[in-house]
Amino acid sequence: MENALKIYNETNQKLRAFNLTMFLNGWDTTTEAPRGSMEHRSGQIAVISEMVYRLSTDPAYENAIETLFQNREKLDEVLQHEIVLARKNLVKIKKVPIEEYIEFSRLMAEIYPVYVEAKQTNNYASYKPYLLKVIDFKKKYLVWEKTAERKGFDILLDEFEPEYGMEEFDQFFQVLKERLVPFAKMISRKKLKYNKAFTKKTFPVDGQRDFAKYLQEVMCFDPQRTVIKESEHPFTTNNGCTDVRITTHYHEDDLISAIFSSIHEMGHGLYELQIDRKLDETNSGGGVSMAMHESQSRLMENMIGRSDVFWRTHLPKLQELFPKQLKGVTVEDFVKHVNVVQRSLIRTEADELTYSLHVMVRYEIEKSIFSNRIDVEKLPEIWNKKYKQYLGVTVPDDQHGVLQDVHWSMGSFGYFPTYSLGSAYSAQIYHAMSKDLDIEKAIASGTIRPIADWLKEHIHRYGSSKYPKEILKLATGEDFNPNYYVDYLIQKYSKIYGI
Ligand SMILES: [Zn+2]
Repeated sequence: MENALKIYNETNQKLRAFNLTMFLNGWDTTTEAPRGSMEHRSGQIAVISEMVYRLSTDPAYENAIETLFQNREKLDEVLQHEIVLARKNLVKIKKVPIEEYIEFSRLMAEIYPVYVEAKQTNNYASYKPYLLKVIDFKKKYLVWEKTAERKGFDILLDEFEPEYGMEEFDQFFQVLKERLVPFAKMISRKKLKYNKAFTKKTFPVDGQRDFAKYLQEVMCFDPQRTVIKESEHPFTTNNGCTDVRITTHYHEDDLISAIFSSIHEMGHGLYELQIDRKLDETNSGGGVSMAMHESQSRLMENMIGRSDVFWRTHLPKLQELFPKQLKGVTVEDFVKHVNVVQRSLIRTEADELTYSLHVMVRYEIEKSIFSNRIDVEKLPEIWNKKYKQYLGVTVPDDQHGVLQDVHWSMGSFGYFPTYSLGSAYSAQIYHAMSKDLDIEKAIASGTIRPIADWLKEHIHRYGSSKYPKEILKLATGEDFNPNYYVDYLIQKYSKIYGI
C-alpha cells in the first residue's frame, strides 16, 4: 500500500508537469503563435501526447490505483474520493476495444473539417454520413460501458456532470417546459422601449481594453495570478490556482459583447483562483464539473453583471472612457439594452431568458437518439420542429439549425444540458448567498469582494474533492431545485418588461 501510494503520487507529479507544457502550448496556439508554426508544432505535440498516454496507462500506475482502491478506507477523505474516480475512469477506458478507439480517433480528425465546410456551405447531406458514424460509435460505447448502476444515455450524461442522469434532467426540463416556455413566448412578443441611439456608435478597442482592466479589479481577478489576452473565441484556461488566464474578443460596433464575455470568463477564472492551494498538488484541483463551472461564470455575467445595481455603480466609468458615444445614456437604457429578449435561432447568441430552451431542444434530440426513438436520418426536420415548438421560430436552413454547434462533431453527446444546469445552479446559489449577504450592497461597494469570499468559502475551495451534488448541498443547504431558476427569471423579466 505504501509503495502504491508512492507510485501513484510520483506518476501524478510527472503528469502534472506534462500538463504545464500542454497548458502553455494551448494558450500560445490560440493567442500568439504564427499560423505557419502549426505543422512543425503538431508533430512535437503528438510526441508529448504519446508520452502522456504511456504514463497514464502504465501498468505500475494502474496497479497502484487498484491497490489504493482496495484499501481506500485507510486513505484521507480527498484521496479516497480521487481514487474512486480514477478507478472508475480506468475501468471505463479498458472496456473500449483498442481498434475501435483508434478508428474513433481517426473519425474525430476527419469529421471536423467536414463539419466546418458543411456549416459554411449549408450542406447537411455531406456531413450526415460522418455524424451517423459518430452516433454508431457512441451506441456501441453505451453497450461496452453498461453497468449495474448505469446504462444508456445516462452513461454519457454522467461523464459531463457526475451522478446526473436522465431522471434528474427530465425533471429539470419538465419544470422549464411547464413554467418557462409559455412565459418566454409571452415576453418575446413584447417590445422593450428605450433610447437605442448609443448602440449604433463605434467603440474603439483601446477604450474597451481599459474597461476590461477596470473590470479586473471590480471582479477581484487578482492581477498577480491572472492574464487577459485576445483570441477569436473567448475562453478560460489555467495551471493550478496561481496561473489563470482568460481571453476576450473586442468588436468596435458592439460595446457589450466583450464586456459580458470578460465578466463570464472572469467568473470561470475566479473559481479556479479560489480553489484551496493545497489541492494543486493533488488530482482534486480544478473546478468540479461543467455545470458548476458554468454556474460561476453565469452568476457573474447575468445575475451580477446584468443587474441594475452593477450599472448604477459602473456606468459612470464606462461613460468616462466613451464620453461622446455614451453621452446622456441612462442606467435604465443601458440595463434594458443588456437584457433584451429575442426569439432567436442561434444558441450562443441567445439571451438569458430563452437560452435554456435552446438547450432543451438538443437534450431531447440526444435522448431520443440513444433510446432509438428517432430516425437519425431526419435530424434536421426534427430540429426545426422543436425550434418552432419551444422558441416559436422558423429555421430557414441547416446552417442556422442542426449545423450550428460543433459539439456532436467532437463526440460530445450529453454535454449541452450542463449549460442549463449551470444557469439553474447559479440561481439556487444566489438565493442561498442572499441569506448571508446583502448582495446589492456588496456590488454597490465597487468590488465584488464579499461575494467572492462567500463563493470561496462555500464552493470554490473544495475544488473537485467532492461530487458536485455534495458541494451544491453544502453551499445551499438543499438538493438541486430548478424552481429557483425559473422564479428568478420570471421575476427579473416581469420587472424589466413591466408586467
Ligand atoms: Zn462558460
